[in-house]
Amino acid sequence: MKKDDCIFCKIANGEIPSATLYEDDDFRVILDLNPASKGHALVLPKEHADDLFSLPDETAARVLPVAKKVAGRLYRGLNCDGFNLVQNNGEIAGQTVFHFHMHLIPRYLKDTVNVGWKPGTLTEEDKEEILALGGENV
Ligand code: 5GP
Ligand code: ZN
Repeated sequence: MKKDDCIFCKIANGEIPSATLYEDDDFRVILDLNPASKGHALVLPKEHADDLFSLPDETAARVLPVAKKVAGRLYRGLNCDGFNLVQNNGEIAGQTVFHFHMHLIPRYLKDTVNVGWKPGTLTEEDKEEILALGGENV
């Protein structure tokens, strides 16, 4: 299903033109308009899902092969020194467009991209709480 007021639905389905690196029946991969680095691209499913949690499993299973294919092409073609895949869910996590997408971010020596965090320490209390959630075979 498409969502009427969703910009990425319109881009993914070709209603709004975009710099397209890859397209198949289910996905479009486009260049980000405000790239973190040269070649920053976005993997967009054509079907609307707000985020990872509402993405159908069949679509989720195809995201990584598509990301791998296009990221590999960028990695080799742009002589990248590294590569980040980033996928934000929720405003606090940096999501600004509420149509699932995966960022493909080429990395270059001395670039100024920042996808880091300050490492914490896993406490016993947190570990017990999280392990008690279970879900090994969800
Ligand atoms: P988020 O912050 O939701 O993880 O990522 C949204 C990304 O979409 C941002 O990197 C932003 O630059 C990009 N973006 C937002 N609107 C458009 C658009 O209309 N076209 C393209 N190509 N990228 C967009
Ligand atoms: Zn959408």
